[in-house]
Amino acid sequence: MPKTSYHTQLLPTLKKYFGYDTFRPQQEEIISAVLEKKDGLVIMPTGGGKSVCFQVPSLIFPKTTLVVSPLIALMKDQVDGCNANGIAAAYFNSSQSSEEQQEIISRVVQQDLKLLYVAPESMASLSNIINETYISCIAIDEAHCISSWGHDFRPSYQQLGFLKQQLPDTPIIALTATADKATRSDIVAQLGIPNAKQFITSFDRKNISLSVRPADGRVEQILNFIAKRPNSSGIIYCLSRKTTEQLVAKLKTKKINAEAYHAGLTFNERTKVQEDFIFDKTKIVCATIAFGMGIDKSNVRWVIHYNMPKNIEGYYQEIGRAGRDGVASNALLFHSYADVIQLRRFAEGASNEEVQIAKLERMKQFSEATTCRRKILLSYFGELLAENCGNCDVCKSPPQVFDGTIIAQKILSTVARVKENEAIGVLIDVLRGAKNASVLDKGLDQIKTYGIGQDISWKDWQHYIIQLINLGYAEIAFQHHNAIHLTEFSKNVLFHKAKVSLTKPIELVEQIGNPKEKTKKVKKEKRSSELFERLRLLRHKLALEENIPAYLIFSDATLQEIVDERPITDHDFIHISGVGNRKLEVYGADFMNEIKDFNQEKNSKKANTHKVTYELYQQGLSIDEISEKRNLKSTTIFSHIAKLYSEGKPINIYDFVSPSEVEEIKKAKVQLDSPPALKPYFDHFEAQIDYFKIRLALAVVEKEEQT
Ligand code: ADP
Ligand code: ZN
Repeated sequence: MPKTSYHTQLLPTLKKYFGYDTFRPQQEEIISAVLEKKDGLVIMPTGGGKSVCFQVPSLIFPKTTLVVSPLIALMKDQVDGCNANGIAAAYFNSSQSSEEQQEIISRVVQQDLKLLYVAPESMASLSNIINETYISCIAIDEAHCISSWGHDFRPSYQQLGFLKQQLPDTPIIALTATADKATRSDIVAQLGIPNAKQFITSFDRKNISLSVRPADGRVEQILNFIAKRPNSSGIIYCLSRKTTEQLVAKLKTKKINAEAYHAGLTFNERTKVQEDFIFDKTKIVCATIAFGMGIDKSNVRWVIHYNMPKNIEGYYQEIGRAGRDGVASNALLFHSYADVIQLRRFAEGASNEEVQIAKLERMKQFSEATTCRRKILLSYFGELLAENCGNCDVCKSPPQVFDGTIIAQKILSTVARVKENEAIGVLIDVLRGAKNASVLDKGLDQIKTYGIGQDISWKDWQHYIIQLINLGYAEIAFQHHNAIHLTEFSKNVLFHKAKVSLTKPIELVEQIGNPKEKTKKVKKEKRSSELFERLRLLRHKLALEENIPAYLIFSDATLQEIVDERPITDHDFIHISGVGNRKLEVYGADFMNEIKDFNQEKNSKKANTHKVTYELYQQGLSIDEISEKRNLKSTTIFSHIAKLYSEGKPINIYDFVSPSEVEEIKKAKVQLDSPPALKPYFDHFEAQIDYFKIRLALAVVEKEEQT
C-alpha cells in the first residue's frame, strides 16, 4: 500500500473509533510500519497503548487482522472494548457452539470482521481461513509467552512459527511489556521474523505517583489512605493468603468493600472476584501475586504493596496495573524489615539463590532510597531519566541531611553493649528505655545506654538504624537471628570521632496554599467531584445494562474531561478525548442530559441563595454570624442584603449604611455618569467608603429612582 493512500487516514481513524486526537509516542510509526507490511516487535509498558498499534491498521486493511492472545478473559475484554467503539471484532474459542464458530468463520470470509481474537490452542480449527485470502495482518499479543525465558511461558505459543511460513507476505506484529534482551531475540527467532523492526518505548509511567512508607501501623495507614479516596478501585498485594484474608476482614469491619484473591480459592471463586472487580462491584482486592495478569481494567486508581515484593520486575509489573487510562494514580509500598528477612529466607536454598538475593537487595535499596525513586526504577530497566521525576515521595519532600554523629554513636554503642546479640527491635527498646520482657529478662535495663533515646520515636530510630546499615556502619547477621553486628567502620564512629550524615525520616507534608485561593479551589473541586460522582453512577448503570465493565464505556480520564468541559452539544461532546463516533451516538445524550440537570439544579440553588440569607436575617443573626454559618464571605452576604432590599423585603438598610453616605453616593453617581461597576465609586472616594456600603447605598438610590 503506498504510504500516501493511508497516511491521511490515521488520525481521523483514531478519532472516529477511539476518540483520541493524537497518537502516543511511537504509535504512529508502528502503525505505519504495519501498513507498509513490515514485521515489527513492540515493547511498551503495561498501559502504554499497545492495542491501538494493531487495531488502527485493522480498520484500514481490507481483510481480517488475526490477534493471538493467551487468555480468554483478556480476549473478551478487548472484544467488548472494540465493539463499544464500533469496531467489528470477535473471539474464537472452544467454549463456543459450532454454530457460533461457523458464523464467525463466515464473517471472516465475507470480510465483515476487522479483528479476530484467538488462542493458539484454537488455531487448528481455523485452518481454512488462516491464509492470505482472508487475513491482512497478524498480531501476537503478550508475545513474551513464546519464550521460556519469560515469566509466563506458554508451550502452545511455540507453534506460532508456522504463521510466517504459511502467510509469508502478511505482516506480523508482536507485542509485549517484557523488555529483556533474551526474551526479545527469542520472540523474533521463534516467529521467524528476523528482520522485524523493534520499537522500544520508554518504561516511564509518569502518572503513577510512587511512595514508600515504613510498615508500622500499616493497617491504620491503609484505612486513612482509602478514606481519602472512597470511590476508587485499588489492589493490595500481600505475601500470603493469610494476610489477604485477615486484611479483608479488617477492611470489612470498616464497611469497606473488599475481597481476597489467592491460589487457595477455587477457579470459580477466583473468576468471580476478578469479574466483580472489573465490573466495579468490588472496589478493593487484597491479593497474592496471582492476581492481575490479563486484567485490562483501566481505572485501577491505586496499588498498595502490603509486603515488599521480592524483586523490582515484580514490583513494576504490579504497580503498572494502576492508571492505565493515564489519570493520576498512586503506588504505595510498605517497607518492613521483617519482610526483607522473610524474603531472604525464601530465597535461601533456591537453585538461583544468589540471583534472588541480589534482586531482593535492589528492591531494598529502592525502598530505602533518598534520591528520586523513579530514576532508580528506570535505571534498573536500563533507562536514564535526565531530571528528577517530581512525582515520588523523595522528590516531593527531599530528605534533609543532618549531622547524625551522636545518634550513630548511641546506636553503635548500644550494639556493642548488648554484645551484638540483639535485633533491631530490642536495640530500639533499650534506647527508648522500654520495660518489656525482652529487655528486663536479660537485664538490658542495666546497660549504660538504656533509655538515652526517649526523645526520638520508635519509627525514627528504626529509620536511623537502617540507614547505618545501608551506610555500612552496621550489618544484619541473617544467620544469627538477625542480630545487628558492628563492622570495621563502626570503630571509626565509636573511637575515632568519624562524622556520620543521616537523613531525617520523610514526612508527607500537606501543601498549604493561599487560603483564599484554596477555599475557592476546594469549592470548585467539590462541585466537580459531585458531577464526577453523578456521571460515574450513570456510567455504572449503563454498564450494568449492557453487561460490560464501566471503563469500557468511558475511561476515568474521559469522564474527568467531561466534568471539566461540561459539554452539552454533540459538537462539544465529540471533542472530548475518548469519545468516538459510536460513543457519541450511544451515550452522548444520556451524559449531556445529566450535565444539563446538574447545571440547572446548581443554578436554581444559586438563584435562591439570597433567600437563605433572608431567613437567617429574619431570625436576627448579624452579618458576621450569617457569613460564618453559611461559610460565605461577608461581602457576599451584603450583596444578598442589597438584593433583598431592592426586591422590597423589609430590610433595615440604615443599620449598615448612614443616610449621609447614601447622599454622598447619590451625588457621585451623577458626577460619574452612573458607572456600571463599583470600582469607580471606590476610587472616587479614595477608598474611604467600603465596597459593601457603596453597594447598599446604590440599592437605596436606585430604589428611590424607580419610585
Ligand atoms: P496496553 O495493551 O499497552 O497495556 P492499552 O492498549 O490497553 O495498553 O491502552 C491503555 C489505555 O490507553 C487504554 O485506555 C487506551 O484506550 C489508551 N490509549 C491508547 N492510545 C491512546 C492515545 N493515543 N491517546 C489516548 N489514550 C490512548
Ligand atoms: Zn522522583
